[in-house]
Amino acid sequence: MSVDVLVVGAGISGIAAAQRCADAGLRVRVLDRGRRIGGRLAARTAEGHSVDLGAPYCTVSDDRFRAVAERWIERGLLREWTDTFQVGGPGGLGEAKSGPMRYGAPAGMRSLVEDLARGLAVEQRVVGPIGSGAEVDGEPARVVVLAMPGPQAERLLRDHQAELAAAADQPYGAGIAVVGRFAERTWPEFDAAFVSDLPIRWLADDGRSHGDGAPVLVAHTTQEFGAAHLDDPDAAIAPALDAMRLVLDTALEPETVFAHRWTFAQPTAGRERTFLLDPETGIGLCGDGWSERSRVEAAWLSGDDLGTAIVERLA
Ligand SMILES: Cc1cc2nc3c(=O)[nH]c(=O)nc-3n(C[C@H](O)[C@H](O)[C@H](O)COP(=O)(O)OP(=O)(O)OC[C@H]3O[C@@H](n4cnc5c(N)ncnc54)[C@H](O)[C@@H]3O)c2cc1C
Repeated sequence: MSVDVLVVGAGISGIAAAQRCADAGLRVRVLDRGRRIGGRLAARTAEGHSVDLGAPYCTVSDDRFRAVAERWIERGLLREWTDTFQVGGPGGLGEAKSGPMRYGAPAGMRSLVEDLARGLAVEQRVVGPIGSGAEVDGEPARVVVLAMPGPQAERLLRDHQAELAAAADQPYGAGIAVVGRFAERTWPEFDAAFVSDLPIRWLADDGRSHGDGAPVLVAHTTQEFGAAHLDDPDAAIAPALDAMRLVLDTALEPETVFAHRWTFAQPTAGRERTFLLDPETGIGLCGDGWSERSRVEAAWLSGDDLGTAIVERLA
Protein backbone atom coordinates (compact mmCIF):
# COMPACT_ATOMS: atom_id res chain seq x y z
CA MET A 1 0.00 0.00 0.00
CA SER A 2 1.46 3.36 -0.98
CA VAL A 3 1.91 6.02 1.67
CA ASP A 4 0.88 9.66 1.68
CA VAL A 5 4.16 11.00 3.02
CA LEU A 6 7.68 9.59 2.80
CA VAL A 7 10.08 11.33 5.17
CA VAL A 8 13.80 10.90 4.53
CA GLY A 9 15.74 11.70 7.69
CA ALA A 10 14.87 10.61 11.23
CA GLY A 11 16.51 13.49 13.08
CA ILE A 12 14.27 15.62 15.26
CA SER A 13 12.98 17.69 12.29
CA GLY A 14 11.96 14.67 10.20
CA ILE A 15 10.29 12.97 13.14
CA ALA A 16 8.42 16.19 14.03
CA ALA A 17 7.13 16.47 10.44
CA ALA A 18 6.17 12.79 10.36
CA GLN A 19 4.41 13.00 13.71
CA ARG A 20 2.34 16.03 12.66
CA CYS A 21 1.23 14.20 9.49
CA ALA A 22 0.49 10.93 11.32
CA ASP A 23 -1.55 12.80 13.94
CA ALA A 24 -3.74 14.10 11.10
CA GLY A 25 -4.39 10.55 9.93
CA LEU A 26 -2.01 10.53 6.95
CA ARG A 27 -0.10 7.35 6.12
CA VAL A 28 3.56 8.11 6.82
CA ARG A 29 6.83 6.22 6.52
CA VAL A 30 10.23 7.46 7.69
CA LEU A 31 13.53 6.33 6.16
CA ASP A 32 16.95 6.89 7.69
CA ARG A 33 20.33 5.53 6.81
CA GLY A 34 21.47 5.35 10.44
CA ARG A 35 21.34 2.18 12.53
CA ARG A 36 19.64 4.31 15.15
CA ILE A 37 17.43 7.34 14.65
CA GLY A 38 18.21 10.79 16.05
CA GLY A 39 20.70 12.20 13.52
CA ARG A 40 22.78 14.90 15.17
CA LEU A 41 21.28 14.05 18.56
CA ALA A 42 23.35 10.86 18.54
CA ALA A 43 24.60 9.40 21.80
CA ARG A 44 26.90 6.53 22.70
CA THR A 45 26.39 4.51 25.86
CA ALA A 46 29.28 3.08 27.88
CA GLU A 47 29.32 1.87 31.47
CA GLY A 48 25.71 2.90 31.90
CA HIS A 49 26.33 6.52 30.88
CA SER A 50 25.02 7.93 27.64
CA VAL A 51 27.37 10.51 26.10
CA ASP A 52 25.96 13.10 23.73
CA LEU A 53 28.03 13.26 20.56
CA GLY A 54 26.07 16.05 18.90
CA ALA A 55 23.88 18.63 20.61
CA PRO A 56 24.50 18.36 24.37
CA TYR A 57 21.41 20.32 25.38
CA CYS A 58 18.43 22.24 24.10
CA THR A 59 16.91 25.59 24.90
CA VAL A 60 13.19 26.33 24.93
CA SER A 61 11.64 29.62 23.84
CA ASP A 62 8.65 28.83 21.60
CA ASP A 63 5.35 27.87 23.27
CA ARG A 64 4.74 24.91 20.94
CA PHE A 65 8.13 23.41 21.68
CA ARG A 66 7.68 24.25 25.37
CA ALA A 67 4.61 22.01 25.45
CA VAL A 68 6.68 19.13 24.05
CA ALA A 69 9.60 19.84 26.40
CA GLU A 70 7.30 19.97 29.43
CA ARG A 71 5.99 16.51 28.65
CA TRP A 72 9.60 15.26 28.50
CA ILE A 73 10.39 16.98 31.80
CA GLU A 74 7.34 15.44 33.50
CA ARG A 75 8.51 12.00 32.41
CA GLY A 76 12.17 12.55 33.37
CA LEU A 77 13.47 12.50 29.78
CA LEU A 78 14.63 16.11 30.04
CA ARG A 79 15.92 18.09 33.00
CA GLU A 80 17.00 21.60 33.81
CA TRP A 81 20.78 21.62 33.57
CA THR A 82 22.07 25.17 33.98
CA ASP A 83 21.65 28.75 32.82
CA THR A 84 25.32 29.54 33.42
CA PHE A 85 28.31 28.62 31.33
CA GLN A 86 31.84 29.84 31.74
CA VAL A 87 34.27 31.17 29.21
CA GLY A 88 37.62 29.47 28.85
CA GLY A 89 40.88 29.63 26.98
CA PRO A 90 44.60 28.84 27.20
CA GLY A 91 44.69 30.66 30.55
CA GLY A 92 42.01 28.48 32.14
CA LEU A 93 38.38 28.97 33.08
CA GLY A 94 37.16 32.56 33.16
CA GLU A 95 34.03 34.44 34.03
CA ALA A 96 30.60 32.84 34.27
CA LYS A 97 27.94 34.00 31.83
CA SER A 98 24.22 33.63 32.42
CA GLY A 99 21.85 32.88 29.56
CA PRO A 100 18.68 30.90 28.91
CA MET A 101 18.03 27.67 30.80
CA ARG A 102 19.79 24.76 29.10
CA TYR A 103 18.04 21.41 29.32
CA GLY A 104 19.96 18.13 29.31
CA ALA A 105 18.67 14.62 28.68
CA PRO A 106 19.66 12.02 31.31
CA ALA A 107 19.54 9.19 28.75
CA GLY A 108 21.06 11.29 25.97
CA MET A 109 19.39 13.70 23.56
CA ARG A 110 18.63 10.83 21.17
CA SER A 111 16.10 9.53 23.70
CA LEU A 112 13.94 12.59 22.93
CA VAL A 113 13.74 11.72 19.22
CA GLU A 114 13.07 8.07 20.03
CA ASP A 115 10.24 9.18 22.27
CA LEU A 116 8.71 11.38 19.53
CA ALA A 117 9.01 8.56 17.00
CA ARG A 118 6.97 6.06 18.98
CA GLY A 119 4.19 4.67 16.80
CA LEU A 120 5.82 5.81 13.53
CA ALA A 121 7.00 3.35 10.88
CA VAL A 122 10.76 3.91 10.59
CA GLU A 123 12.95 1.90 8.23
CA GLN A 124 16.74 1.85 7.91
CA ARG A 125 17.66 2.70 4.32
CA VAL A 126 20.20 4.83 2.47
CA VAL A 127 18.09 6.83 0.07
CA GLY A 128 19.47 7.55 -3.41
CA PRO A 129 18.82 10.42 -5.83
CA ILE A 130 15.23 11.68 -5.95
CA GLY A 131 13.54 11.43 -9.39
CA SER A 132 11.51 14.02 -11.24
CA GLY A 133 8.62 14.03 -8.75
CA ALA A 134 7.67 12.96 -5.27
CA GLU A 135 9.25 9.51 -5.21
CA VAL A 136 12.01 7.78 -3.27
CA ASP A 137 14.00 5.00 -4.93
CA GLY A 138 11.15 4.58 -7.42
CA GLU A 139 8.43 4.48 -4.75
CA PRO A 140 5.87 7.27 -5.19
CA ALA A 141 4.21 9.24 -2.40
CA ARG A 142 1.96 12.28 -2.37
CA VAL A 143 4.69 14.22 -0.57
CA VAL A 144 8.39 13.49 -0.01
CA VAL A 145 10.19 15.25 2.81
CA LEU A 146 13.97 15.66 2.94
CA ALA A 147 14.80 16.44 6.59
CA MET A 148 18.57 16.74 6.66
CA PRO A 149 21.43 19.24 6.29
CA GLY A 150 21.15 21.29 3.07
CA PRO A 151 24.25 19.81 1.38
CA GLN A 152 22.88 16.27 1.87
CA ALA A 153 19.49 17.26 0.42
CA GLU A 154 21.26 19.02 -2.47
CA ARG A 155 23.06 15.79 -3.36
CA LEU A 156 19.78 13.86 -3.51
CA LEU A 157 18.12 16.51 -5.68
CA ARG A 158 20.83 17.67 -8.07
CA ASP A 159 20.33 15.01 -10.79
CA HIS A 160 16.64 15.64 -11.49
CA GLN A 161 15.59 18.72 -9.49
CA ALA A 162 18.15 21.43 -10.17
CA GLU A 163 16.07 24.32 -8.86
CA LEU A 164 15.14 22.58 -5.62
CA ALA A 165 18.73 21.44 -5.20
CA ALA A 166 19.86 25.06 -5.38
CA ALA A 167 17.20 26.05 -2.83
CA ALA A 168 18.31 23.25 -0.49
CA ASP A 169 22.01 23.98 -0.63
CA GLN A 170 23.54 25.88 2.24
CA PRO A 171 27.02 26.19 3.76
CA TYR A 172 27.59 23.94 6.78
CA GLY A 173 30.56 23.88 9.12
CA ALA A 174 32.27 20.65 10.20
CA GLY A 175 33.13 19.58 13.72
CA ILE A 176 34.61 16.75 15.75
CA ALA A 177 33.44 15.72 19.20
CA VAL A 178 36.19 14.33 21.43
CA VAL A 179 34.96 12.33 24.43
CA GLY A 180 37.14 11.34 27.36
CA ARG A 181 36.12 9.05 30.22
CA PHE A 182 38.15 9.32 33.42
CA ALA A 183 38.62 7.21 36.54
CA GLU A 184 37.45 10.12 38.66
CA ARG A 185 36.77 13.83 38.53
CA THR A 186 40.03 15.69 38.98
CA TRP A 187 38.94 18.95 37.39
CA PRO A 188 37.42 22.08 38.96
CA GLU A 189 33.65 22.16 39.24
CA PHE A 190 32.05 23.58 36.08
CA ASP A 191 29.15 22.76 33.79
CA ALA A 192 30.48 23.85 30.44
CA ALA A 193 32.62 26.54 28.86
CA PHE A 194 32.69 28.41 25.58
CA VAL A 195 36.37 28.23 24.63
CA SER A 196 38.43 30.72 22.60
CA ASP A 197 41.92 30.72 21.08
CA LEU A 198 42.26 26.91 21.09
CA PRO A 199 41.32 24.07 18.66
CA ILE A 200 38.19 23.43 20.75
CA ARG A 201 35.28 25.85 21.01
CA TRP A 202 33.22 24.06 23.68
CA LEU A 203 33.99 21.88 26.70
CA ALA A 204 31.34 20.26 28.89
CA ASP A 205 31.09 18.03 31.92
CA ASP A 206 28.77 15.40 30.47
CA GLY A 207 28.07 13.87 33.89
CA ARG A 208 26.64 17.17 35.09
CA SER A 209 24.47 17.75 32.00
CA HIS A 210 22.99 14.26 32.42
CA GLY A 211 22.78 14.51 36.18
CA ASP A 212 24.47 11.15 36.86
CA GLY A 213 27.89 12.53 37.78
CA ALA A 214 29.77 10.26 35.36
CA PRO A 215 33.41 11.42 35.00
CA VAL A 216 33.11 12.24 31.30
CA LEU A 217 34.25 15.34 29.43
CA VAL A 218 33.15 16.26 25.90
CA ALA A 219 34.91 18.83 23.72
CA HIS A 220 33.77 20.14 20.33
CA THR A 221 36.43 21.38 17.95
CA THR A 222 36.21 24.65 16.09
CA GLN A 223 34.84 24.41 12.54
CA GLU A 224 38.26 25.13 11.04
CA PHE A 225 40.04 22.49 13.13
CA GLY A 226 37.22 20.01 12.48
CA ALA A 227 37.35 20.56 8.71
CA ALA A 228 41.12 20.01 8.71
CA HIS A 229 40.68 16.64 10.49
CA LEU A 230 37.61 15.19 8.76
CA ASP A 231 39.71 12.55 6.97
CA ASP A 232 41.35 11.40 10.19
CA PRO A 233 39.26 12.44 13.21
CA ASP A 234 41.44 10.43 15.61
CA ALA A 235 44.24 12.90 14.88
CA ALA A 236 42.10 15.53 16.62
CA ILE A 237 42.20 13.66 19.93
CA ALA A 238 45.65 14.70 21.19
CA PRO A 239 45.28 18.42 20.40
CA ALA A 240 41.77 18.42 21.88
CA LEU A 241 43.01 16.77 25.09
CA ASP A 242 45.83 19.31 25.33
CA ALA A 243 43.27 22.09 24.98
CA MET A 244 41.07 20.51 27.69
CA ARG A 245 44.09 20.38 30.03
CA LEU A 246 44.78 24.08 29.47
CA VAL A 247 41.17 25.16 30.01
CA LEU A 248 40.79 23.07 33.18
CA ASP A 249 44.38 23.60 34.32
CA THR A 250 44.51 19.89 35.19
CA ALA A 251 46.67 16.95 34.10
CA LEU A 252 43.86 14.94 32.50
CA GLU A 253 44.61 11.29 31.63
CA PRO A 254 41.50 9.60 30.26
CA GLU A 255 40.86 5.86 30.65
CA THR A 256 39.17 5.86 27.27
CA VAL A 257 38.94 8.50 24.58
CA PHE A 258 37.35 8.62 21.13
CA ALA A 259 36.47 11.09 18.40
CA HIS A 260 33.23 11.43 16.45
CA ARG A 261 33.16 13.28 13.12
CA TRP A 262 30.36 15.62 12.02
CA THR A 263 30.88 16.49 8.35
CA PHE A 264 27.82 18.74 8.48
CA ALA A 265 27.69 19.88 12.09
CA GLN A 266 25.79 23.13 11.87
CA PRO A 267 24.89 25.68 9.15
CA THR A 268 27.07 28.76 9.03
CA ALA A 269 24.21 31.00 7.89
CA GLY A 270 20.51 30.95 8.70
CA ARG A 271 17.27 31.45 6.81
CA GLU A 272 14.14 33.38 7.70
CA ARG A 273 11.61 30.82 6.47
CA THR A 274 11.18 27.58 8.38
CA PHE A 275 10.59 25.10 5.53
CA LEU A 276 9.98 24.77 1.81
CA LEU A 277 7.14 22.78 0.26
CA ASP A 278 7.34 22.82 -3.53
CA PRO A 279 3.76 23.00 -4.87
CA GLU A 280 4.65 21.42 -8.21
CA THR A 281 6.59 18.35 -7.15
CA GLY A 282 5.29 17.83 -3.62
CA ILE A 283 8.82 17.76 -2.25
CA GLY A 284 9.36 19.37 1.14
CA LEU A 285 12.54 20.49 2.85
CA CYS A 286 13.05 21.05 6.57
CA GLY A 287 15.74 20.83 9.24
CA ASP A 288 17.87 23.11 11.37
CA GLY A 289 19.10 24.94 8.25
CA TRP A 290 15.54 26.27 7.91
CA SER A 291 15.81 28.65 10.83
CA GLU A 292 17.63 31.80 11.78
CA ARG A 293 19.94 29.82 14.04
CA SER A 294 20.63 26.09 14.14
CA ARG A 295 19.12 24.67 17.30
CA VAL A 296 17.33 21.52 18.43
CA GLU A 297 14.24 23.63 19.03
CA ALA A 298 14.52 25.28 15.60
CA ALA A 299 14.81 21.89 13.90
CA TRP A 300 11.68 20.64 15.69
CA LEU A 301 9.78 23.82 14.74
CA SER A 302 10.88 23.50 11.11
CA GLY A 303 9.62 19.92 10.92
CA ASP A 304 6.39 20.74 12.73
CA ASP A 305 5.71 23.71 10.42
CA LEU A 306 6.34 21.60 7.32
CA GLY A 307 4.11 18.84 8.70
CA THR A 308 1.29 21.37 9.21
CA ALA A 309 1.70 22.65 5.64
CA ILE A 310 1.60 19.07 4.30
CA VAL A 311 -1.60 18.32 6.22
CA GLU A 312 -3.18 21.45 4.69
CA ARG A 313 -2.03 20.45 1.20
CA LEU A 314 -3.30 16.90 1.41
CA ALA A 315 -6.57 17.66 3.24
C1 LIG B 1 28.51 19.04 17.58
C2 LIG B 1 27.14 19.66 17.60
C3 LIG B 1 26.78 20.49 18.65
C4 LIG B 1 25.50 21.05 18.69
N1 LIG B 1 25.14 21.82 19.77
C5 LIG B 1 23.86 22.23 19.90
C6 LIG B 1 23.42 22.86 21.10
O1 LIG B 1 24.18 23.03 22.04
N2 LIG B 1 22.12 23.26 21.18
C7 LIG B 1 21.24 23.06 20.16
O2 LIG B 1 20.06 23.40 20.31
N3 LIG B 1 21.62 22.45 19.01
C8 LIG B 1 22.91 22.05 18.85
N4 LIG B 1 23.32 21.40 17.71
C9 LIG B 1 22.40 21.37 16.56
C10 LIG B 1 21.34 20.25 16.62
O3 LIG B 1 21.96 19.02 16.87
C11 LIG B 1 20.63 20.23 15.27
O4 LIG B 1 20.07 21.50 15.01
C12 LIG B 1 19.50 19.20 15.15
O5 LIG B 1 19.81 17.99 15.79
C13 LIG B 1 19.25 18.99 13.65
O6 LIG B 1 18.22 18.06 13.44
P1 LIG B 1 17.75 17.76 11.95
O7 LIG B 1 16.58 16.86 12.03
O8 LIG B 1 17.56 19.05 11.22
O9 LIG B 1 18.97 17.04 11.21
P2 LIG B 1 19.76 15.69 11.55
O10 LIG B 1 19.71 15.41 13.00
O11 LIG B 1 21.09 15.83 10.91
O12 LIG B 1 18.94 14.54 10.81
C14 LIG B 1 19.14 14.23 9.44
C15 LIG B 1 18.95 12.73 9.25
O13 LIG B 1 18.94 12.45 7.84
C16 LIG B 1 19.55 11.20 7.63
N5 LIG B 1 19.98 11.14 6.23
C17 LIG B 1 20.78 12.01 5.57
N6 LIG B 1 20.96 11.59 4.29
C18 LIG B 1 20.24 10.44 4.14
C19 LIG B 1 20.02 9.55 3.04
N7 LIG B 1 20.55 9.74 1.82
N8 LIG B 1 19.24 8.45 3.25
C20 LIG B 1 18.67 8.23 4.47
N9 LIG B 1 18.85 9.06 5.53
C21 LIG B 1 19.62 10.15 5.38
C22 LIG B 1 20.70 11.18 8.63
O14 LIG B 1 21.10 9.85 8.92
C23 LIG B 1 20.08 11.89 9.85
O15 LIG B 1 19.55 10.97 10.79
C24 LIG B 1 24.58 20.81 17.64
C25 LIG B 1 24.96 19.97 16.58
C26 LIG B 1 26.22 19.40 16.56
C27 LIG B 1 26.58 18.47 15.42
